[in-house]
Amino acid sequence: MIFKRIKSLIFGQKNEEKPTRPTVATCPDCGVGSGELHDLFCTREKCPFCGGQLCTCACIGTVLKLSDDEQRALDECIDDSVPPVSEINQRWKEALRSKGRIPFEAFGNDPIRSAYRGESTALKSFLDAGYPPNAANEVGYTALMAAARGEQCEIIHLLLLRGWTANFPDHRGLTALHWAVAQPASDPKRQVACVTALVDAGADVNACSAEGVSVLMNAAWFGNGHAVKHLLQAGADASHKDTDGRTARDLATTRGHADLAKLLA
Ligand SMILES: [Zn+2]
Ligand SMILES: [Zn+2]
Repeated sequence: MIFKRIKSLIFGQKNEEKPTRPTVATCPDCGVGSGELHDLFCTREKCPFCGGQLCTCACIGTVLKLSDDEQRALDECIDDSVPPVSEINQRWKEALRSKGRIPFEAFGNDPIRSAYRGESTALKSFLDAGYPPNAANEVGYTALMAAARGEQCEIIHLLLLRGWTANFPDHRGLTALHWAVAQPASDPKRQVACVTALVDAGADVNACSAEGVSVLMNAAWFGNGHAVKHLLQAGADASHKDTDGRTARDLATTRGHADLAKLLA
């Protein structure tokens, strides 16, 4: 760093932080390009059933409903060129084909990770390289949601400026506002700043997941008092019930947040 600074003084270069290279053009394991399917059993392939690592997750057993004997044969790695393992592998390939395998993506999860960590230089280089607004991973999770989760208000502002939508939901119907309060605040001021940024950009304070979980419920469950107050001021409906008939107050009570339960009464 010092050397760089000296060099820039000597050579008159701009003293700027060098952007991190955004793209990995090919899969580092099996070498396929962006958008292509991995070689089957590549360690980088994601499981379309659980989102985990395909070659190590347990979905083959649960999805194919393997018998104890079949599971044992598989676990013991008995010769895979003959039944039962060859047959199980065949059934697994068909199950994956009908579910739809997840191809390699050059951008991978990195913009999401950068957003969560607040690495604005890296994130900007992904955006400049064409990472599109509201780009989501296989469960619909976006960099905006990650920024909200990481209490990265500056990143939220950056993404909103670059055309990201405050109300964009993931596959379960959770929005960035849900994610902003979906863990105990590490810094309540920053958490509220994130909530404010999203609400000001048009995020619906009464957005609900498919199970009827509201933003206020998440905030109540995780004991985020400042956020609860702010959401109530912004018009959050405390009387809303989820599909199990529970209100935000019920959740606060269940989790032992007595002061919040009083606030939500
Ligand atoms: Zn691969
Ligand atoms: Zn899986």
